[in-house]
Amino acid sequence: MDYYSKQISRLIEEFSRLPGIGSKSAQRLAFYIISRPREEAKALADAIVEARENVRYCKECQTLTDQELCPICRNEKRDHSTIMVVENTRDLAAYEKTGKYEGVYHVLHGAISPMLGVGPNDIRLKELMIRLQGDIKEVIIATNSSLEGETTAMYISKLIKPTGIKVSRIASGVPVGGDLEYIDEVTLLRALEGRVEL
Ligand code: ZN
Repeated sequence: MDYYSKQISRLIEEFSRLPGIGSKSAQRLAFYIISRPREEAKALADAIVEARENVRYCKECQTLTDQELCPICRNEKRDHSTIMVVENTRDLAAYEKTGKYEGVYHVLHGAISPMLGVGPNDIRLKELMIRLQGDIKEVIIATNSSLEGETTAMYISKLIKPTGIKVSRIASGVPVGGDLEYIDEVTLLRALEGRVEL
């Protein structure tokens, strides 16, 4: 990349660190940004810095939010005795988009994967177990139907069983290996409604 000036090379390098961005895309993005008005580039830079500085984990459900409690956990109209466990904030958003789920969530930020060396302590399971000491009626496990998602679901159900709290798993309307965030709302709802008790 020596044929570009230092500043351009640096920008390309930063873009190429992003997931799914190869060196060609990184160059395209860098030149695009440079071609735009100064204010537009600054707005992007500010949004990145501010989001990084202000976004944190919700004290209750661990989703990403810019307040101590996320809007869902703060909402008194939601059913706080039903917790849907999802792998990440994008999966939570997928279920929120259906507009039909009235409970609250718990975001694990990952899934157990012995192959990748991700154990139960590497995801936000401890936080879930602490929440279960409260008044909880049902835990719906909505991890992905990948090997990791299934492993995580089994692990969680074994942990919760002794507490006597009802544990269910969303139905297999979700295709095997499918990421929740890419699945349409009807399928998501069907999977939720057809959930089976573990
Ligand atoms: Zn929350």
